[in-house]
Amino acid sequence: MSDRKVKEGDVFVADHKETAYECRVVTDNEGAIRYQVGEKVKGRVKFGAEIFKSMTAAGKAATGYAVHPNKFWTVKGETPAPKPPKKAKAKKATKGEDFRRLDDGRVYCQSCAGPFDATVDVVSGKATCPQGHSGVVVELEAAPAG
Ligand SMILES: [Zn+2]
Repeated sequence: MSDRKVKEGDVFVADHKETAYECRVVTDNEGAIRYQVGEKVKGRVKFGAEIFKSMTAAGKAATGYAVHPNKFWTVKGETPAPKPPKKAKAKKATKGEDFRRLDDGRVYCQSCAGPFDATVDVVSGKATCPQGHSGVVVELEAAPAG
C-alpha cells in the first residue's frame, strides 16, 4: 500500500470471521494520514476511537494479528480480486457420479449406492449428495398422468 496514495475520506473494507470491517482514512492535527477502524454491527459501522498509523496496524486491530494490508483491505466499492479457489479436495472425477431420480422423488447416488433427498439446481440440473458427490440428475421419463 506504500506506493498507493490514499487520501482523507478513502474507505477500505475487509471481511474477517464473518465480521465486516471498514478502515477509513483520516488526518490527524498535523495533517498526517491516519487510519480508523470500524466494525459493522447490524448494518452500521461503528468506528473505534483509536487511530492507526498504517493500514497494517489497522488490519491488526481488526484481526488481532498481522495482516497483509494489500490483501486484507479492499477499496470500498471495488470488487475484490477473486480469491483463488481453495484447493479442492483432490477428488477424482469418477465416472458414474450421475444421479438418477427415483420413483419416490429422491435421487439415487451411484457413488454412495444410496438415495438422498436432493435439491436440484434448476439451471444446471445438478445436485449434490450428502457425501459431496455431484452430478446431473437424470430425471424420470414423464409418467403418464393418472
Ligand atoms: Zn454420493
